[in-house]
Amino acid sequence: MDCIFCKIVNGDIPSYTIYEDDLVKAFLDVNPDVNGHLLIIPKKHYKDLFDIDEKTLMHIFETAKKINPILKEKLNTEGLTLVQNNGLLQEVKHFHLHLKPQYKEKQRILKPEEIYNIIKE
Ligand code: 5GP
Ligand code: ZN
Repeated sequence: MDCIFCKIVNGDIPSYTIYEDDLVKAFLDVNPDVNGHLLIIPKKHYKDLFDIDEKTLMHIFETAKKINPILKEKLNTEGLTLVQNNGLLQEVKHFHLHLKPQYKEKQRILKPEEIYNIIKE
């Protein structure tokens, strides 16, 4: 199947991965709205919210909870906005949860590589 996120899962396309386990992978969005903009995806291909099973869905939200303290500590974030598109506004047809950190001050948007280096420091 010609799915860009499946290619990220199997390593055919590189990604700045912040967290992964047997079920999910969390990596930096290539075109961030904010610094630390991440996507959490299931490793198995599910199209959208109406396709994914509940166990995997819950694990994705648990992963968001696990990642939040890392964003707080490394990027001084002040909150986390979750977005998940289905249908018309969903560009990539492999389920993904957007994690968009919140900041007190307006931030200059850094490249994913720079954010990755800060998080991994
Ligand atoms: P959607 O509009 O489907 O909710 O969001 C898709 C997101 O995937 C967009 O924010 C886009 O920047 C991101 N994206 C698309 N292709 C790639 C890619 O190859 N690598 C990464 N890291 N993000 C991607
Ligand atoms: Zn896929």
